Amino acid sequence: MRLLLCTDLDRTLLPNGAAPESPAARPRLRALAAREEVTLVYVTGRHRELIEAAIAEYGLPAPDFVIGDVGTSVYRVSGADWKGSVAWSTRIARDWAGFGRDALAALLGDIPGLRLQEPAKQGAFKLSWYAPSDWDQARRLPEMEERLAAAGVRASLIWSVDETTATGLLDLLPASAGKRHAVEFLMAQEGFAAAHTLCAGDSGNDIAMLASPLPAVLVANATATVRAEAVAAAERAGTLDSLYLARGDFHGMNGNYSAGILEGLAHFLPETLAWWAEPNDAPSTDAPSTNAEATEP
Ligand SMILES: [Mg+2]
Repeated sequence: MRLLLCTDLDRTLLPNGAAPESPAARPRLRALAAREEVTLVYVTGRHRELIEAAIAEYGLPAPDFVIGDVGTSVYRVSGADWKGSVAWSTRIARDWAGFGRDALAALLGDIPGLRLQEPAKQGAFKLSWYAPSDWDQARRLPEMEERLAAAGVRASLIWSVDETTATGLLDLLPASAGKRHAVEFLMAQEGFAAAHTLCAGDSGNDIAMLASPLPAVLVANATATVRAEAVAAAERAGTLDSLYLARGDFHGMNGNYSAGILEGLAHFLPETLAWWAEPNDAPSTDAPSTNAEATEP
């Protein structure tokens, strides 16, 4: 069996939130990722330099692909060689109808509360602002959407809150970009069925991916607000069966970060447990498995 494992970085694979990380989690995830059956994809809002910095800082396994800049860039990675997908950028470029990033920034420049992010955090197809964490998104997002539609621009506005700094983050992307669509693009390109794909995330820009029909896990350290939003989005889409909420108490781990990813993977694809678990590392709350087998008909 082959597996396409698509995970967000900040506060999903990276233990950089307030919640503690189980010490065994990342080494187990690393063991899993080292299997030749596994194609590992990082799916993140970060741009290339910040992704490489995170890989070095946290000792992350080398990915096979990277979906960066909130799904507006796709790279095939081998060693130090990152090859950008021209097919992907060509596909998403059409949505902006000839508008460049600066023209869109000017079009929306007078919306109250928004402050453009640093140039390094902007992408060719990603325009990003900061906003107060209590920014009136319910009022402002429709206003922005209307203005974009009137200009003939097909775009998505993605709102998230960075809980560590209590900062609102707003990304404007081509409508056909975003994490979910980029994952689907890779699945088609690399020949992975949904049943052999797992997505993992923790926050606002992951919700479309989590509420898609693809098997997905929300790590246990996600905030209650995000959990409620993800469940509501999956309910609306009729995809609750393909969303797993990590809860911990799983092979001695707490469900946060990598532990949540492993828990979600075991939920959808139990055969992958053997890819990282030692035979004796499960909590011994049940009868030994030899006895359990003996009671079966
Ligand atoms: Mg995250």
